[in-house]
Amino acid sequence: PKLSFDQFIRHWAAQRPDNTALEQEGEALTFSELETRSRKIVSMLRARGVRKGDRIAWLGKNSRHYFELFYSAARMGAVMVPIGWRLAAPEIGFILGDTGAKLIFVGRGFEDMAATACSQMDTPPAVATTPDAAAAIDAARADDFVPAGPDDAVLQLYTSGTTGNPKGAVLTNRNLFSLRLPSQDAEQPWSHFDEDEAILVCMPCAHIGGTGLGIMAMGSGIRAIVQEEFTPDGVLDAFEQGITRLFIVPAALQMVVQHPRAKTTNMTGVKYVLYGAAPIPLDLLREAVRTIPDAGFLQCYGMTETTGTIAVLPPEDHDLAGNQRMKSAGKAVPGVELQVVGENGEELLRGEVGELVCRSPSNMACYWNLPEATQSSLRDGWMHTGDAAYMDEDGYVYIQDRMKDMIISGGENVYPAQVESAIYGHPAVGEVAVIGVPDDTWGEAVKACIVAKPGQQIDPDSLIEWTKERVAGFKVPKSIDVIEVMPRNASGKILRKDLRAPYWAGRE
Ligand code: ATP
Ligand code: MG
Repeated sequence: PKLSFDQFIRHWAAQRPDNTALEQEGEALTFSELETRSRKIVSMLRARGVRKGDRIAWLGKNSRHYFELFYSAARMGAVMVPIGWRLAAPEIGFILGDTGAKLIFVGRGFEDMAATACSQMDTPPAVATTPDAAAAIDAARADDFVPAGPDDAVLQLYTSGTTGNPKGAVLTNRNLFSLRLPSQDAEQPWSHFDEDEAILVCMPCAHIGGTGLGIMAMGSGIRAIVQEEFTPDGVLDAFEQGITRLFIVPAALQMVVQHPRAKTTNMTGVKYVLYGAAPIPLDLLREAVRTIPDAGFLQCYGMTETTGTIAVLPPEDHDLAGNQRMKSAGKAVPGVELQVVGENGEELLRGEVGELVCRSPSNMACYWNLPEATQSSLRDGWMHTGDAAYMDEDGYVYIQDRMKDMIISGGENVYPAQVESAIYGHPAVGEVAVIGVPDDTWGEAVKACIVAKPGQQIDPDSLIEWTKERVAGFKVPKSIDVIEVMPRNASGKILRKDLRAPYWAGRE
């Protein structure tokens, strides 16, 4: 079958048998070893009663064992559910129960957490540790199996839970590979991969920003270097080891470029820096481009439900000479249609703000066990992103913010991301989140929550004055909270709902 893990594993095992497929802390697995081992893993899964369509879970930090298991399970059509290791036991239990997983694989250090989560369940899954799985591999026969096809589900990824409870997006082989294959398209040189490239996987594998890179590497026949978790030092080390691409979220990019080592690290081997998953302040983006001057920057816009990236801002739109385009999240990648629609689903004029919707072969099959949410999000093949955006004449999309986070103050719409981007430019500001709080006069009033840069003091009045010079009056915060730590989820996204909660308690 085309567009499937089975096809790609066979293909690259034949074409590039001795090239490294997966690497972690110096241990490497070639494509031919991966092919052989994955047959044995399939046998091991079948011996444990796993059949096509069954869910199996992974709890642990990023690991090459995770990717090996995922690719193998996908060959036979078992559905991998990676669970975020930062979650608490009841949250893990919720996902396990929601999926009905038969088997959970547990990475190093998460044995106790898995046991606790399972002990709270009525019908817990069987628990397997990865070394145990490896022992079983040596013993198992590598027998034949019916490979999963393009439209079989192989991955169930939970959304980040930034705005509410995480929802399980069911993704098929086709969803995973349709937009992720290497191409020779001259207009998109970044979709061409040289054989000796290496991709760094440092974002959590429970999110598309982590797992998606592993899928990209598998589809393109190149090396994935897996790091357990993101650290700025880890990324800088990886630059020195010669990675050619990586994906990181804006909060992580900030830590890398502001790290003291950034000035002395050799970054000349990096071809492309992919970033996205949350709005990026313009000043941070400029700083990143200056700090890693040899790399092409690619902004990625997408969501779990679209299997990640559906729009890209190409490197040429990252010039530092006051280019407006640098504020855009990019334009649709080939194969994807984007539209901005109004409340009745009608397409709006260019420049008008509405909801961004997307028709793409990467749109998920459905939300798991949530038929109503599926129906309201996926209408006639169009995924409703919940993001407010406008499009310019050339098809570039400008994300304003999530529709749920829009503040209505005195009848005017305020998109927090724009105000945050302005405030971020103040030299004393380290991190900033803008929220709406109840206000008797205005309905909602704009508030900024600020974490100061190390060694800096925030003076609320002067910061408000400073902001007045940069954004319209109705967008300027009426008040400022100085906070110690910005609440973020595992994807590095600011949890505005947590910042809002104390102000809205009993009112919403
Ligand atoms: P939940 O749906 O559970 O509330 P989430 O939406 O954060 O969580 P993800 O699927 O990880 O879960 O994130 C998708 C969202 O991330 C998009 O809808 C958009 O709001 C935001 N996003 C992604 N890429 C960008 C980008 N380049 N610029 C701005 N926002 C982005
Ligand atoms: Mg979402």
